[in-house]
Amino acid sequence: MPVVEPAMISKTLRDLFHTANSVLVLTGAGVSAESGVPTFRGGGQSAVWKGMPFEVISSAQMLERDLPAVWEWFNYRRNLLAQLTPNAAHTTIANWPCRFSDLSVVTQNVDGLHQAAGSRDVIELHGNVWRARCFDCDARYNSRELNCDEAVPSCFDCGGNLRPDVVLFGEMLPPGAFERAADAAQRCELCLVVGTSAVVYPAASIPEIAKGNGACLVEVNPERTPLSDFCDEVLTGKAGEILPLL
Ligand code: NAD
Ligand code: ZN
Repeated sequence: MPVVEPAMISKTLRDLFHTANSVLVLTGAGVSAESGVPTFRGGGQSAVWKGMPFEVISSAQMLERDLPAVWEWFNYRRNLLAQLTPNAAHTTIANWPCRFSDLSVVTQNVDGLHQAAGSRDVIELHGNVWRARCFDCDARYNSRELNCDEAVPSCFDCGGNLRPDVVLFGEMLPPGAFERAADAAQRCELCLVVGTSAVVYPAASIPEIAKGNGACLVEVNPERTPLSDFCDEVLTGKAGEILPLL
């Protein structure tokens, strides 16, 4: 694994870091890898819960077929995540509102680690395992404040069943989330793509929008991705090591 020294970050990028006002950071599973969250390709995708593959238990069909099983699976995932803490990448990003007057953090992750590090107004494209939502009236709840261990929790407003507020296979993105991200992509001067293989649409179109509107596109990833050739700069290495250097 090549070590990235500050000198390897080009002068152009260092200058842009000092002058840019509008910055967008798009993160994926890789930003949480150093916190101990498996990435999709690094094992998360092959997870099996009670004999069911990840894409079956985490699907819209399963919500209809067996909602208690979906809750049991998300309870299990939350219990694992509860023991993990943000890493240097999350904390660096959480400090960037001090540097950039218009910072947008857009994530495909559902782990809540950006918020745990102190980031506010994170645009979550795929929801958050720490939130539940009512099927009937759309009310949102903090999962930590619900009793979801024994049975499917109910809505305090209308009594309807709650579900994890996460985008499951076969579901659309939350209304407005992509639009907010696309707006931010249109106006940013610098777009950092951190720890995502950048192949899942529509999230993958965010770097395209940014670059198409003249932003400098920078990738932070230990491996090359389909986006690498399209980027102005590729910083090869772990997010938790590279972002603090910036
Ligand atoms: P992915 O697993 O397809 O890709 C992860 C990327 O991170 C890879 O390109 C890998 O090279 C890179 N990576 C690995 N370690 C890294 C590190 N230390 N620093 C920087 N980059 C690193 O994940 P994806 O592109 O985010 O897409 C998969 C989907 O799965 C997402 O939509 C997401 O919702 C979901 N997912 C979420 C989580 C989470 O919430 N933490 C975890 C796994 C998957
Ligand atoms: Zn309700």
